[in-house]
Amino acid sequence: MADSILVINCGSSSLKFAILSNAGQTLIVEGIAERLGSDNSSISFKFEGEKTVIALQDSSHKQAVTQIKHWLEEHPHIQKNLVGIGHRVVHGGETFTHSVLIDQNVIQGIADCSQFAPLHTAAHVIGIEVAMQIFPGLPQVAVFDTAFHQTLEPVQYLYPIPMAMYRDHHFRKYGFHGTSYRYISQRLAELDPKSHQQGVLAAHLGNGASTCAINKGKSSDTSMGITPLEGLMMGTRCGSLDPSLISFISKAEHISSDEALDILNKKSGLLGISELSNDCRTLEEAMVSGDNRAKLALDMFAARTAKYLASVATTLESIDHLVFTGGIGENSSYLRHVICQNLKAFNISINEDKNNNAPRGMASEIHTRHSNTKVWIIPTNEELVIALDTFSLINN
Ligand code: ADP
Repeated sequence: MADSILVINCGSSSLKFAILSNAGQTLIVEGIAERLGSDNSSISFKFEGEKTVIALQDSSHKQAVTQIKHWLEEHPHIQKNLVGIGHRVVHGGETFTHSVLIDQNVIQGIADCSQFAPLHTAAHVIGIEVAMQIFPGLPQVAVFDTAFHQTLEPVQYLYPIPMAMYRDHHFRKYGFHGTSYRYISQRLAELDPKSHQQGVLAAHLGNGASTCAINKGKSSDTSMGITPLEGLMMGTRCGSLDPSLISFISKAEHISSDEALDILNKKSGLLGISELSNDCRTLEEAMVSGDNRAKLALDMFAARTAKYLASVATTLESIDHLVFTGGIGENSSYLRHVICQNLKAFNISINEDKNNNAPRGMASEIHTRHSNTKVWIIPTNEELVIALDTFSLINN
């Protein structure tokens, strides 16, 4: 068996992990530690088609990583091939434009980005420090969600607010889902090599959702901003709106601006409009049973996705490809259909048979012969990018 990499995605109350070998092509084991920091936390391992769940006594991140280490000790043929650990890091600010090998300076650099993503950053630092304690001597790499968008020009990433806000506080658009967009760009270049010299629009649609324009392989604009709240309507996030609303909501509801922001982050989007669920599948089922509010929420999601695809497209010379990815982008034929209907002015059209019968978990083309733009469904694979970056930094 070839060298393998442990990929860790550490959140404040969860820790997802996977071990990949064979240049990232083979998933050996994956799992998740959930409800960390609260009662009844547990960690699950999916290995050779079987799922094992183990309760965590002290519900800490450290105990979760210790359990991964124990699992490896029980599988010495896998442990002996482990050569490194790759960590997903949400915010790399302007400091990190590429993945990096982790040392104390890098940990400090990640901690310094915490003002924009305090909960995520604190969790990442814990995950890295714990992994360093439990796997001493194993090289560790940080892969940043923001890094792919560091190619944006100032004309795209600056907010039209006083320049001192950028100079003094680094307030600007950073963008997220960069690891996913980098994968999409590379995978599309395998499927259609010319795409690397062309204009690509991509929509990563999951619980969090964003769009990205990729010009000749580089991100030229993206819909998320200084935080993931900007841009599209999402599962529970409102996306872009008039910022005055924060003041209106806090005055009308007698709450602080932070509490108003919490409503926009956690109680809005598909959940806020449907008053039913943030989950696309639940809403599609409700729509089929005649729930008009579920349909309104989904149609708003589609309209706003199309709007932010059109918006980022202004940085491209031509729209040669449109790629759908993420749980919704890969699986919801209804939303792909409505989004493309909203893009009729761009002469983007999809074949409904191909859209409705797209094979699950595989890349496919769904455009019509007359479409100006090739339309693709490409399942994303962020773990693969993290594993490959980790391999390549270790080997260099
Ligand atoms: P996250 O941002 O948490 O990684 P995912 O990319 O896993 O999210 O996407 C989750 C979303 O994908 C949910 O809204 C879920 O309902 C939706 N989804 C998954 N499968 C389907 C499906 N078959 N049809 C419609 N929506 C789906």
